[in-house]
Amino acid sequence: MELEHRVCIRDLNPQIVCILCAGYFIDATTISECLHTFCKSCIVKYLQTTKYCPMCNVKVHETQPLLNLKIDRTLQDIVYKVVPGLWDDEMKRRRDFEMTRGLKNPYGGSVENNLEESEDVYLSTQHYFMNDELIHICLEPYDENDLYDQELKYPLRKFVRCSVRAQVFHLKKLIKKIWPHLSNKELIALCDGEPLPDSHCLKRVWLSHNNENPPLKLQFQLKS
Ligand SMILES: [Zn+2]
Ligand SMILES: [Zn+2]
Repeated sequence: MELEHRVCIRDLNPQIVCILCAGYFIDATTISECLHTFCKSCIVKYLQTTKYCPMCNVKVHETQPLLNLKIDRTLQDIVYKVVPGLWDDEMKRRRDFEMTRGLKNPYGGSVENNLEESEDVYLSTQHYFMNDELIHICLEPYDENDLYDQELKYPLRKFVRCSVRAQVFHLKKLIKKIWPHLSNKELIALCDGEPLPDSHCLKRVWLSHNNENPPLKLQFQLKS
């Protein structure tokens, strides 16, 4: 099984490796003129000194080559899905980078305060999360009888959008904001009926569970 897995990734390499850095694509970005793909940072840097595709030499754009670059999120999702650990490594690298630049730790204890401060830190346009890829989520009680408040008539389903970097932990906080009658309860978040650890980020949940189009359906239930 293990062997099959490895062979499979190696066969895919030509499709998922950037020729500029020889690593797996990070923020896969495609030149719309020739459909060749590279890491975003690699191709942006490369095009600072030339206007031609590094693979086929086609002229990317007469004057502003960056205009003809397109982020390919679908391809990037495939890369993250087939290369074990790549997503986690990349997120760690970004986190470390942000820390060294003196940005507030967006994941640690400070998030709680941020959530209190602003309506929703992940949707705030002032925040640097604004450039993040967003994920569409449908929140619903796992067992409708369990959570639906007959008296208060809270809606059973809620659609939200948040950063792919948000964690299950943040989502629980959001659920408690949406349904205040749950604010003192302990919640379990589930995807396909499987409980999700607090520390898992939503991108990871999406990649490991989703086989459908958005939104990503997440359920929650009370911890008994
Ligand atoms: Zn690259
Ligand atoms: Zn090309």
